[in-house]
This record gives sequence, C-alpha cells and structure tokens, in this order.
Amino acid sequence: MKILVTGGSGLVGYAVQNITDNYEHEFTFLSSKDCDLTNYEDTKKLFLLLKPDYVIHLAAYVGGLFKNMNFKVDMYEKNTLMNCNVLKCCHEIGVKKVVSCLSTCIFPDKTTYPINETMLHNGPPHFSNDAYAYSKRMLEVHSKAYQEQYGDNFVCIIPTNIYGENDNYNLEGGHVIPALIHKCYLAKEKGDNFVVRGTGKPLRQFIYATDLAKLIMWVIESYHENDSIILSVSESDEISIGNVARIIAKEFDYEHMMLFDDSFSDGQFKKTADNSKLISLYGDFDFTSMNEGMKKSVKWFIDNYEKCRK
Ligand code: NAP
Ligand code: GDP
Repeated sequence: MKILVTGGSGLVGYAVQNITDNYEHEFTFLSSKDCDLTNYEDTKKLFLLLKPDYVIHLAAYVGGLFKNMNFKVDMYEKNTLMNCNVLKCCHEIGVKKVVSCLSTCIFPDKTTYPINETMLHNGPPHFSNDAYAYSKRMLEVHSKAYQEQYGDNFVCIIPTNIYGENDNYNLEGGHVIPALIHKCYLAKEKGDNFVVRGTGKPLRQFIYATDLAKLIMWVIESYHENDSIILSVSESDEISIGNVARIIAKEFDYEHMMLFDDSFSDGQFKKTADNSKLISLYGDFDFTSMNEGMKKSVKWFIDNYEKCRK
C-alpha cells in the first residue's frame, strides 16, 4: 500500500518514520515545505500526483497550553482549513482509508472520569484551548459525514499527551515536556532556577511517540470500526505535572534548583482517558515507561540541540 503521512516532519511523523522498516508499505512523509495544506489547490495537486492508498493525517497547527491561549484564531482557522482540504482531497481521489488525529485535550472540561470515546461532544472544552478543540471536534464530525454520505473509510484516533524525540522545544509555545526539557537545559547551563509553570498539580497521561506510531500502524492495518478510538496509556499511569518536571530535572541532575511559578495558568486540571476499548481490541500493549521514554527524549534533545525545533 502507498501510505501518505501528513505532518511527517513533526513529533509523531518522525516516530512513524523510525518504524517504517517493520512494514512492507511504501511511505511518503510530507512537511509544510512540500505543500501548505491550508491551500486546497496545492493539496489537490500533490494528492493527485502521489495517489496514496492510505493517508495518516497528522498535520496540524499544534502547541502547548500557552500557544493555545494566545493564538486562538490560528488554532481554529489553520486546523479547520487543513482538515477540510485533506479530507476533501482524500475523498476526491478515492483514498481507501484515512486515519486522522484528534486529542484527549478536546474532551469536555466538566465531565465524569474516565472519559471514553462516546463523550467527546458532551459539553464545552476547557476555555484555554476551545478554538483548537472545536476545530478538532469538527474533524471527527467531518470524517463521520464522509462515512455516512459516501461510505468512505475515514476514522479518527484520540491520543493523549505525546512526548518523544524531535518535538517542538519552543519555550513559550511548546507542550509541557519539550518546553521543560529545554528550560531545564538552559537553567543548568546558566546556573539559574528551573522554573515550572503553574502549581504542578494538574494530572496528565503521556504516551511515548514511538508507542503511538506503532498503534497508528495497527489502526491502519487492523482497526475496522467506524468510531474513534482513544490511544492512551492506562488511567493508573496518570502523573502530575510536578512529577513529570521532577523526572526531567533528575535527568539533568538538577532537582535541587526546581521551583513552581503559580502566577501561570494550570490549564485543565485533568482529562483522564479510558483506554479499555484499545486494550479490548489490541490486547495488552507494552507501553514505554515514562522514565525510559524521558531518558531517550532528553538525550535526543541534548544530542540535537543545535538543529532541533525551538
Ligand atoms: P508537530 O510536531 O507540531 O508537527 C506538526 C506537523 O504538521 C509538522 O510536520 C508540520 O510541518 C505540519 N504542518 C503544520 N502546518 C502545516 C501546513 N499548513 N501545511 C502542511 N503541513 C503543516 O505536531 P505533533 O505533535 O507531531 O502532532 C501530530 C498530531 O497529533 C496533530 O494532529 C496533533 O493535533 C495531535 N496531537 C498532538 C499531541 C501532542 O502532545 N503533541 C497530543 C494529542 C494529539 P513543518 O514541520 O513543515 O512545520
Ligand atoms: P495541555 O496538556 O493540553 O494542557 O498542554 P501542555 O502540554 O502545555 O501542558 C500544560 C500543563 O503543564 C499546565 O498545567 C501548565 O501549567 C504546565 N506547565 C508547566 N510548565 C510549562 C511550560 O513551560 N510549558 C507548558 N506548555 N506547560 C507548562
């Protein structure tokens, strides 16, 4: 099969690139340099040229809490344009299966826990990322519309927070793990405090990008349902931001200089996701532990400091 991966140069795209040897498909990885997916004509031209059988749609305008709060128009417009263009072009050229990426951060803010796949639209998302969340929710609505009106095999996955090599290490706009890896690196270099934003109390589930890449390939090859599926570690692996920061500080041997600045927002307190649908269909998945994944991620950042996204 010819598999086209949008967002192929990002955190998750890079993780998929690193496991392609295990599969007999022909992969093409796109970045924004190959095609601006917010432009319909350019997207159509490239999709017609490549004629993929399957599409893994990862491309998105993505960021952590502070980027979500400060760039709501871009979050809404860029993601909505990209998603509309990709699904429309996939339909027009007859792509056999599209797997598109949502996120557990788009679930309702006020809800019962754990959150499962059926609860995605049951109430407003957290105000901090509502523009991103509503745009992503419409990606699910749009995929289902293609299923119902045309019988297209367009499905969505819902990963939890992701981390790993080749992340976006921007200090302001990055997600918590890459931003804190970069901050701890700089703090140690300068002998400054390692400042963690917020109280450190919010809870998150984190999946190592390589684990997610393997699960995405399982969805492509072996998931045959129409409804979305959560791709997450278990509820018992939920961890506080404070403890994540401690693991990072430990990797740099800099725990004694860590402090919290609670003048910054905590964002959503938790979004505990239920992975029982995944486990019931896949069986037990051997998730990479946070200690092991973080060791690899920090090493990658240090080894690639000059050229990584920051
Ligand atoms: P990322 O590292 O920020 O990468 C984003 C990718 O999208 C890059 O390849 C980027 O290309 C591409 N892209 C952005 N704007 C584009 C445009 N206008 N045209 C074409 N390509 C464009 O993102 P990620 O963390 O891998 O996220 C992958 C997917 O997972 C996204 O759908 C995201 O919403 C979802 N997700 C992420 C997380 C997380 O914690 N990171 C959690 C849950 C869900 P360039 O490299 O050329 O800029
Ligand atoms: P979220 O999981 O979608 O909320 O996104 P993030 O990956 O940005 O994680 C946000 C959580 O990490 C919030 O509780 C923040 O207060 C906390 N946090 C602590 N330091 C940082 C930082 O430097 N950057 C980011 N993005 N979040 C931080």
